[in-house]
Amino acid sequence: DMDVTVTEESPFRFRIDRQGAMRVPGVVFASRELLPQASGDRALEQVVNVATLPGIVRASFAMPDVHWGYGFPIGGVAATDVDAGGVVSPGGVGFDISCGVRLLAAGIQQAELAPRLKRLMDILGDTTPRGAGRGGLWKLSGRAQMEKLLTGGARYAVERGHGVPQDLGRCEDCGALTTADPEQVGQRAVERGLHQVGSLGSGNHFLEVQAVDRVYDERTATAFGLRDGQVCVMIHCGSRGLGHQVCTDHVRVMDHSLRAYGIVIPDRQLACAPVVSPPGRDYLGAMAAAANYGRANRQLLTEAARRAFATAAGVGVDLVYDVSHNMAKIETHEVDGVPRPLCVHRKGATLALPPGHPDLPEDLAEAGQPVLVPGTMGTASYVMVGTSGNDAFFSACHGAGRVWSRHRALREVRGEELHSALESRGIVVRPSSWRGLAEEAPAAYKDVDAVATATVGAGLTRLVARLIPLGVVKG
Ligand code: 5GP
Ligand code: MN
Ligand code: MN
Repeated sequence: DMDVTVTEESPFRFRIDRQGAMRVPGVVFASRELLPQASGDRALEQVVNVATLPGIVRASFAMPDVHWGYGFPIGGVAATDVDAGGVVSPGGVGFDISCGVRLLAAGIQQAELAPRLKRLMDILGDTTPRGAGRGGLWKLSGRAQMEKLLTGGARYAVERGHGVPQDLGRCEDCGALTTADPEQVGQRAVERGLHQVGSLGSGNHFLEVQAVDRVYDERTATAFGLRDGQVCVMIHCGSRGLGHQVCTDHVRVMDHSLRAYGIVIPDRQLACAPVVSPPGRDYLGAMAAAANYGRANRQLLTEAARRAFATAAGVGVDLVYDVSHNMAKIETHEVDGVPRPLCVHRKGATLALPPGHPDLPEDLAEAGQPVLVPGTMGTASYVMVGTSGNDAFFSACHGAGRVWSRHRALREVRGEELHSALESRGIVVRPSSWRGLAEEAPAAYKDVDAVATATVGAGLTRLVARLIPLGVVKG
């Protein structure tokens, strides 16, 4: 056990001073109440561990939703200098590569949908593949087609008729990272992925029908395609078995190559390799391929949602934005006043580009990037936008963040009771198991309103809109 001392630097910003093998300080964006220690979570030790990685610059950052994860904390952001021995670590991305959130805006208001909500949720529940081992909406024919999907991501899905071209203008990287190297995705990963495109996966993943409950910034909301009272759909899922296998395979390779590169780490789960080394390059190519798989996955689920809305309500659905919250990207940022190529790990953290940033899709160049922050199925979720003052490499929180382990949630909550409690509040719940529902109980997460306040208070984002749940299909 390590005792981590945090010092309040400014409101919602705490510093962990350099000590021992730390190469940079830690910076935690939070209120006192949101600090992980408050719930007995040791994630700040992980923030300290990450600060020891070769090539890390500026700080080891933690977002207000930070909590314990594999090696790196979830809600952690770390950037390494590519040309100065900086490393890439699969644990800094996570097992669910390119897990992320997509928000859709429907052409209907909450009040109009109300009488048809149950029917809509029935259709969504029946047509959204979910559960751990389940197959997806799109069965690929074999490795050759998989390579096309790993290269083209959501763009390939749209080319094959799963969506409309304007969807791509609302996707991070226009739906596909160009750096994918499908050859680095092993056969086992490909096999696991062939029949899972268009599926939610388990527990924490969901498809939620929501309503805009409050607009904070009319102009930005309008640019995003959102208005007060509007019905939305939030889809949270990732790269399924394929991404998990890619992470597993490359962690193993890097674990073996640590000595060859003379890398010493305080925790084996931080296994890493220089970005400019064969294992580093191979991982980044495989990671980008898996990321494209995750984006195609969300594109397919969007189609299912569109069909359900057409059937139940006769209305269309537009994409607001699709952002990954488990990624490592090579980006240019200034370090000590000099632009440097950095490998930015965001694990359970969202890219949050400010208005005018060159990486924004044309559509959103003026407004800035939508930052999608799910809360829980029983509380609010938020839409925010990036700000230019964000010194955490333009990153923000990705959710409320856990305070209870799944194990603890199962001890505290009964799925059936949670179900009736939510339904009595008018929230229509289509669970895939009582156990899964209990694990994701609202009480298992931090207060998302407090997380939003801390994120904005720390200057990472501005608020655009608040969403409330109407119905949820749980993985
Ligand atoms: P993660 O990617 O870390 O598994 O989850 C991201 C966030 O999704 C969690 O921190 C939590 O706040 C949020 N979340 C989990 N389940 C639900 C749900 O059913 N509905 C909504 N709106 N958010 C959820
Ligand atoms: Mn995930
Ligand atoms: Mn996720």
